[in-house]
Amino acid sequence: MDLLYKSTRSNDIAVTASQAILKGLSDDGGLFMPERIPALDISMKDMVNMSYQEIAYEVMKLFLSDFTEEELRSCIRQAYDDKFDTKEIAPIAKVGKAYYLELFHGATIAFKDMALSILPHLMTTAAKKNHADHEIVILTATSGDTGKAALAGFADVPGTKIVVFYPKNGVSPIQEKQMITQKGDNTFVVGIHGNFDDAQSGVKAIFGDKKMAEKMAAAGFQFSSANSINIGRLIPQVVYYVYAYVKLLENGEISENEKINVTVPTGNFGNILAAYLAKGIGVPIGKLICASNENKVLYDFFSTGIYDRNREFVLTSSPSMDILISSNLERLIYKISGEDAECNRKLMAELSSRGSYQITDEMRSRLEDFYGNYASEQETAAMIREVYEDTGYVMDTHTAVGAAVYRKYCADTKDKTKTVIASTASPYKFTRSVMGAIDSKYNALGDFELVDELSRISGTPVPKAIEEIRTAKVLHDTVCEASQMEDVICRFLGICD
Ligand SMILES: *Cc1c(COP(=O)(O)O)cnc(C)c1O
Repeated sequence: MDLLYKSTRSNDIAVTASQAILKGLSDDGGLFMPERIPALDISMKDMVNMSYQEIAYEVMKLFLSDFTEEELRSCIRQAYDDKFDTKEIAPIAKVGKAYYLELFHGATIAFKDMALSILPHLMTTAAKKNHADHEIVILTATSGDTGKAALAGFADVPGTKIVVFYPKNGVSPIQEKQMITQKGDNTFVVGIHGNFDDAQSGVKAIFGDKKMAEKMAAAGFQFSSANSINIGRLIPQVVYYVYAYVKLLENGEISENEKINVTVPTGNFGNILAAYLAKGIGVPIGKLICASNENKVLYDFFSTGIYDRNREFVLTSSPSMDILISSNLERLIYKISGEDAECNRKLMAELSSRGSYQITDEMRSRLEDFYGNYASEQETAAMIREVYEDTGYVMDTHTAVGAAVYRKYCADTKDKTKTVIASTASPYKFTRSVMGAIDSKYNALGDFELVDELSRISGTPVPKAIEEIRTAKVLHDTVCEASQMEDVICRFLGICD
């Protein structure tokens, strides 16, 4: 029997994994969740010495049960190849007391590559399986990293087009340059006047627009999503938590069945939800430590049971986490409500009408696995400087938010459990903030001078992703209001009225 996926907002909708990947979002606006969390059918010990690709298969086959072994292995093989600069794919660096799981060794040097290198293959396979004959238009809102990783994944993939919306003044200079220099006839990149939440809400509204869907279908197009609302993004992210545990075991850092904690710098709640699913399938994980920057809506939620987006949106040095509406939290709310779609639907309706909702005490009691905290801009910068001065290891701003919150967790709880910190981006992607944190003398340097200086002080080679954009031509210069997103898409697709 195939594992089916249900909408978080109604009990009537159930689809296969491949259908859920093709659709992205359920028609009722809900997110797809597996009807039950499967269990690993192999022990951690038996995975010792397996490659990333082999572990990926063991994990993904549980969730994507309507893919054949051959289909899944082929997707995995094409995704995790020499696009990554290390055979390990996701190496672990032990620095001080913590284990940094480096998820930034892919084509665009942020953790989004972990899932977006495989999503195009899963999606084209899913289209074939379901005899979908419409061209797939990937619609994506980005806080900076998803955009480039999705563009790199989908560029020139036959049968697809991709449109990316990013906040014009809300991403790092390197992130913007990476996106607007993207090659590929099927790629479109648009800056919007607004923040990430505006971009994400705009994309969700377009998904829900029935008239637009009809217009698209008449022209032979169908939308899907490369955001973490797509389970095709989420499931590949479960893999590296399993992999991390197996490697720690393999290297004798932990003993069999020993619990580990996981710290995740969080924005849209996708990465930490993947860690929650990893725990669900049987990885011995204790606490899931949710790290926020000054947009600390999740910290407040974990401390009070109230989710409230009514607050000022802060632009921080960790822009990929500048988010007030964490879409994937809906999946956790659905779980802790006892998979009560009606309850979840009501809370999400309150979020969109009032901007806030409150969960019941019973639901709160099911959040025991989670610990939330946040790091200020100052604490984030101090963390980067301190770890560099003590060890020579240079981390990016997002990872530093995780490291600073992990320190608060240790001080708060005295818990000594070994902890993996998800290292979500290369410091080369946020050179200005990273180098400025290490020494204010760097503030005077230009973007690429900073790159060279970072290489010198860290003793790491400049990644290919950065070399490529030094001299690359700008190929995308469209900027629009959030209210014009639909028009812009129609123009790109040539389906204007
Ligand atoms: C996207 C991103 C995050 C946040 O991940 P979520 O899954 O949205 O919580 C953190 N750090 C970096 C570098 C990112 O690109």
